[in-house]
Amino acid sequence: MYAQMLCGLIMRNEVLRVGAVFASGLLRAIHFLQNNWKQLAHDIATGTLNPKITDAPVRECMRKILKPNPELAQFVTMECYEENWECIIKRIWPRTKYLDVIVTGAMAQYIPTLEYYSGGLPMACTMYASSECYFGLNLSPMCKPSEVTYTIMPNMAYFEFLPHGSSTSCLVDLADVEVGKEYELILTTYAGLCRYRIGDILRVTGFHNAAPQFRFIRRKNVLLSIESDKTDEAELQNAIENASLLLKEFNTSVVEYTSYADTKQIPGHYVIYWELLVKDSANAPTDDVLNRCCLQMEESLNSVYRQSRVADNSIGPLEIRVVENGTFEELMDYTISRGASINQYKVPRCVSFTPIMELLNSRVVSKHFSPDLPHWTPERRR
Ligand code: AMP
Repeated sequence: MYAQMLCGLIMRNEVLRVGAVFASGLLRAIHFLQNNWKQLAHDIATGTLNPKITDAPVRECMRKILKPNPELAQFVTMECYEENWECIIKRIWPRTKYLDVIVTGAMAQYIPTLEYYSGGLPMACTMYASSECYFGLNLSPMCKPSEVTYTIMPNMAYFEFLPHGSSTSCLVDLADVEVGKEYELILTTYAGLCRYRIGDILRVTGFHNAAPQFRFIRRKNVLLSIESDKTDEAELQNAIENASLLLKEFNTSVVEYTSYADTKQIPGHYVIYWELLVKDSANAPTDDVLNRCCLQMEESLNSVYRQSRVADNSIGPLEIRVVENGTFEELMDYTISRGASINQYKVPRCVSFTPIMELLNSRVVSKHFSPDLPHWTPERRR
């Protein structure tokens, strides 16, 4: 990361696109620049490489590229020294035409932050893929993130589809899926996976020739459940988005989140960990606002959740725990240290593993609870 960033700075006028596979990876790179610009500027000024980089082939390559360039070092210092990092991508790499990064599905939450750092550059989501198999391409890569559809490439594997939300377990072939319906993706790969459930839910939006096109909807699994309630990734994300509208007037956004179903006490309750980007510390959101964010989240959750809160009293008030800046980066470091790939890392949207819980809880700066019950009215039965 260090050597790549250094190359990016040295060749700043040649860079035409900036990207990473997932939006979270690109933000990680920007934070890396935030944390390391002083040392990078020093290397550029002196034409030497940080001794912390010990890999011999990397040092040898960098030796050929690095030459003292005090003018560039001063430019990097001037740009990064400022607290305001708005448009930093365009300022440092002025010829950038677009961000090459996946912002569909769970990555959609990073769009506002990427817009902030890039000054509104277009974001191209080019592909839909996994470690197991390459699935599809976006045939209109410059479209808006909300309009992205992926065209399945039929030669990549044998694709089958399990209708989502219906009682049938009959698989549908690629050519037979129906527009508007949702399916779970099942694949049989050349490498030997047989009818493997990837765990993604897709909605058919149309066809390109005979190949169906899909919108990525969400991961399949239920994230949070205390008793009969079931909250999935998309619902949680929607609730976070609704609650974070209350932070707008404080120029604050939620940069990362995860959740935990706390059943240590009865009734159990949802705990949401938030890392916030407060752009104006003199106008940070108050306690009262964060309490209202808890209630707003509850209002956005499904009716079974609200019924459990209001009528059954089987779920306690939702809690938001605000964590220190940089906590989610530490979480990523921890996961990578246990073998995850940096390029494919995705923030877990629900946690329960003890070391991760300990890490998060040790970084909590404030706790907030829903001050009231959400709305719920019994459905009328005929
Ligand atoms: P991995 O095997 O770790 O690379 O993760 C693959 C998973 O990442 C997929 O099953 C999806 O859940 C997610 N993913 C990959 N590409 C996209 C995309 N374009 N949009 C949304 N989610 C994606």
